[in-house]
Amino acid sequence: MTTAHILGFPRIGAQRELKAALEAHWQGGLDAAGLHELARSLRARHWQQQRDAGLDFVTVGDFAFYDQLHNVSALIGAAPARFGFGGPLGLPEYFAMARGTPAQPALAMKKWFDTNYHYLVPEVDAGTRFALNRDWLLPEVREALALGHKVKVALPGPLTWLWLASAEAGFDKLRLLSLLLNVYWALLAELKALGVEWVQLDEPILALDLPAAWIAAVTTAYRELAGAGPALLLATYFGDVGEHAALLKALPIAGLHLDLVRAPQQLPAFIADWPADKRLSLGIVDGRNPWRTDLAAALATLHAAQAALGERLWVAPSCSLLHVPHDLSFERRLDPRIRSWMAFAVQKLDELALLKRALRDGEAAVWRELHAAAAAIEDRRRAPTTQVAAVRARVAALGPDDARRRSPFAQRIAAQRAVLQLPKLPTTTIGSFPQTAEIRAARAAFKAGRLGEAEYIAAMQAEIRHAVERQEALGLDVLVHGEPERNDMVEYFGEQLAGYAFTQNGWVQSYGSRCVKPPLIYGDVWRPKPMTVEWSRYAQSLTDKPMKGMLSGPLTMLFWSFVRDDLPKREVALQLALALRDEVVDLEAASIKLIQIDEPTIREGLPLKKADWPAYLDWAVQAFRITAGGVRDETQIHTHMCYSEFNDILPAIAALDADVITIETSRARMKLLDAFAEFRYPNDIGPGLYDIHSPRVPAAGEMRTLLDKALAVVPAERLWVNPDCGLKTRAWPETEAALRQMVATARAARAALG
Ligand code: GLN
Ligand code: ZN
Repeated sequence: MTTAHILGFPRIGAQRELKAALEAHWQGGLDAAGLHELARSLRARHWQQQRDAGLDFVTVGDFAFYDQLHNVSALIGAAPARFGFGGPLGLPEYFAMARGTPAQPALAMKKWFDTNYHYLVPEVDAGTRFALNRDWLLPEVREALALGHKVKVALPGPLTWLWLASAEAGFDKLRLLSLLLNVYWALLAELKALGVEWVQLDEPILALDLPAAWIAAVTTAYRELAGAGPALLLATYFGDVGEHAALLKALPIAGLHLDLVRAPQQLPAFIADWPADKRLSLGIVDGRNPWRTDLAAALATLHAAQAALGERLWVAPSCSLLHVPHDLSFERRLDPRIRSWMAFAVQKLDELALLKRALRDGEAAVWRELHAAAAAIEDRRRAPTTQVAAVRARVAALGPDDARRRSPFAQRIAAQRAVLQLPKLPTTTIGSFPQTAEIRAARAAFKAGRLGEAEYIAAMQAEIRHAVERQEALGLDVLVHGEPERNDMVEYFGEQLAGYAFTQNGWVQSYGSRCVKPPLIYGDVWRPKPMTVEWSRYAQSLTDKPMKGMLSGPLTMLFWSFVRDDLPKREVALQLALALRDEVVDLEAASIKLIQIDEPTIREGLPLKKADWPAYLDWAVQAFRITAGGVRDETQIHTHMCYSEFNDILPAIAALDADVITIETSRARMKLLDAFAEFRYPNDIGPGLYDIHSPRVPAAGEMRTLLDKALAVVPAERLWVNPDCGLKTRAWPETEAALRQMVATARAARAALG
């Protein structure tokens, strides 16, 4: 009989109960016992949901107070020495590492592969030692067993933990492998003693480009761990591991999990001669995305697999359900038609159970459910909103000219300089000004219908006036309207574009207690009417200085949304690009002379394997260029990027052909700029002169040092002066103080240049 299981479940709670409890705990309003109690009740509920759905195991080990990789660090006693902890790691130490202490910065956070989830980066060095800490994981296993569940334990595997750890350059982390395996071995032995039959070790790094030594280490590691006791299920996901098929088949593991949503093409490499003593878990329900599974298509694959594998077939979501929202039944305001196309984590449990029953009892036994699922898929396919002929025709008609400005940069910049008449080293900001409590209150009141439209517009105009007055007083050269009307970079635009929908409760964990509620791109995207033009026009009417228009780019709109799964991402990006291009053209027509298209996320879309980068960068660059391509030479296109690390994609950044790029550089003391200089980045650059992430106002001279560094590698004619990023999270006093310094720094440098 086919086994149905999941790799992991969202831990935050259907109503974000864990978020509330964590934040209460950190503020001193909930003690550790209360926090543990809440965690126990969430785990119990989530296990019961898995059991009620009819899964063969409940998955234990996916719960975390902050992050699953950090849980392993606690479990194996791997705290960096810099924290100076004496004894075993308890909850206070766990949170101290996650959030920092007065004396020590927190562990770094990084994106978990190509998701929007962030893990805490372990730190290792030659002195790192491990010891099993029985206060972690094991109590949860006993808890599940005591509730009478059949338990499969799941946790990140040793190679993935070690690969993701940071170490000093030159230190070979594999030197720690045998010590690490000892502690995993001890853990597995304890789990066996508790009666746990299966342990799932997640090794998503197998989908990356791994050095040969690490590939060899896979065999070493799993040979070693095989003897420890429980049957091991090695879980891969987020990509194709077909290149390792021979190695994986030869490992002394009891089962392997494959992500067939991301990489269906890898199945043949495994199924043909799959070893008789091993299970093969097929991830066929999308764990990354909230759409309903095409069960008929899934069953076609599974029936074929069942013929080859028989009882050895397991069915599962592609990866942990951590990345999808919790429960669709809370969505009472979502258009019922769109809702009928969707499945959140709880609904995906039912899909798995249904697939299992269809495989066991035949499709006739579940025809009613299969019919309903097929009808929803068909309805989605035929809905007028998912197939808008005019949008499709416009994308199909795109040609090379649409992705090209009229003239090359040299000609454009000359025309722009003639129009704008800016001084050398022009000063500007990245777009947002402080989002004060009053601004947020006005927006919320308007949304709730407590504030009329005219009053709301008046309130926002007053904020814009205020921001313009302050910028004029500070002496900035290129002004912005300050973005008071925007809650964030994606929702604001998504709400005004066709093809977008919004959930009430579709939260997914980003890190710790932080959750995001991505909008849904469910249909063809187009722009019914201008989105930002009136605000920019109003702002420009208040000043003789040039006003920069401001919008989010197509890639940012794509990567911070849940994207439909019935159209290639490239196609969705081109639809977004055309919708945003209309906005850019309208801003120009409203006499806005500079337009910034924010793309902080271009790196986020990078495929896990380098071989796939060029194809992605090709359409990503195309989408940006289409957005920017409709304006005259005189109109200056800016773009902005943060989160650094562009060194390896500089050719693509240059290919965007923005007239001006502003980038985050101050924290790394202009290191990124060296890469731009070495690459000979051809257009104008504004390296951020100060960090906006803290209220600290840089000391006099600090900005000048950074500006001089920039002047040493970029010709003065092509250099802009600006902060690292938008100022929305700051308060006015520090904002004004820092900008005053920044303007003075630019003026002094100008004078020195003569
Ligand atoms: N224009 C946006 C702002 O200033 C840019 C934000 C970002 O890059 N993340 O807030
Ligand atoms: Zn930024």
